Amino acid sequence: MIPRFVAEGIKGSDIYRFKEHIDNCASCKEELTIQFLSSEGVAHLESGTSFHLENELFEYMSRALKARQMTVRMRTLMIVYEIAALFVIASIFIYAGS
Ligand SMILES: [Zn+2]
Repeated sequence: MIPRFVAEGIKGSDIYRFKEHIDNCASCKEELTIQFLSSEGVAHLESGTSFHLENELFEYMSRALKARQMTVRMRTLMIVYEIAALFVIASIFIYAGS
């Protein structure tokens, strides 16, 4: 999952499993650091901006987790709206029938 995470991020709830494993597995954390450095670090070298590996990796991980939380929140909101819409439709039918 590391190359995928570095290249495009991980979609869906897999991001939590990924984060959990990285936090608890030294060799995967090292692998992630190396791959992240070789992809993001090179981009920073080319643009000439400074690069703090640990901060950038932490930021990247935080953004991935936040994106996932937003998706879940949006989905929950949609379900709430759908239920509300169903109630409105149901009450119109009940009203029309009485
Ligand atoms: Zn591992």
